[in-house]
Amino acid sequence: MRVAVISDIHGNLHALEAVLADIDRSGVDETWCLGDVVGYGPRPNECSDVVRERFTVVLVGNHDLAAIGSLSTVEFGPLASVSAQWTAAELTEANAEWLRGLQPEATRPEAELYHGSPRDPVWEYVLSEEVAYACLLETTAPVVLVGHSHLALSLLLAGDGVDGGLAPDGSDAELARGRWLLNPGSVGQPRDGDARAAWLLIDSEPQRATFRRVMYPIERTQAEMRERGLPEQLAARLAQGV
Ligand code: ZN
Repeated sequence: MRVAVISDIHGNLHALEAVLADIDRSGVDETWCLGDVVGYGPRPNECSDVVRERFTVVLVGNHDLAAIGSLSTVEFGPLASVSAQWTAAELTEANAEWLRGLQPEATRPEAELYHGSPRDPVWEYVLSEEVAYACLLETTAPVVLVGHSHLALSLLLAGDGVDGGLAPDGSDAELARGRWLLNPGSVGQPRDGDARAAWLLIDSEPQRATFRRVMYPIERTQAEMRERGLPEQLAARLAQGV
């Protein structure tokens, strides 16, 4: 079986379309989305429509919950808060209803899926080896998938810790080596210094996960953000991938 895993689209339709074209070229059996379909970006409704139609499994993320009023934005930074309010006003009732029905975690036969982490599926960021190790100890699936940090990561449980770190374009995780915690990176707002949209291909034959990056017309998303009066810093960061 071949599975495409994506996360953190954040209303960036051009990035999502580029990733879907690459997924289609690769040929997959299932598509999983780890959440944050909306928030920050200019096209929340179109992204919701596409994900609802195309994805087998969809989790809800903290930005999705904020956009439907299920999570307070007091813990959001000022830019995230402004964009969450804009998104909440923009979202159609049908899309809000769809997001309300989603959960921040899911289990498949081959993997456990979380937006944040197994310990806190909505909020916790897996950014350190200590947290990744603790998350692997709390789970049993061969592969644990998380999003939320917007960093592509591959970490292998090894002894009393983990091996690995940032996962650049084209890097592989050999799944037969043990238990892995993987983050596909972000489709619509990468923060690992590579501005291209990220996704992850998991293949059961051979047992391998491959990190992919795809170029997309960043300037079109930036223009849409400026047209809608979204914060300039949120548009500018897309070109840097930070
Ligand atoms: Zn996010």
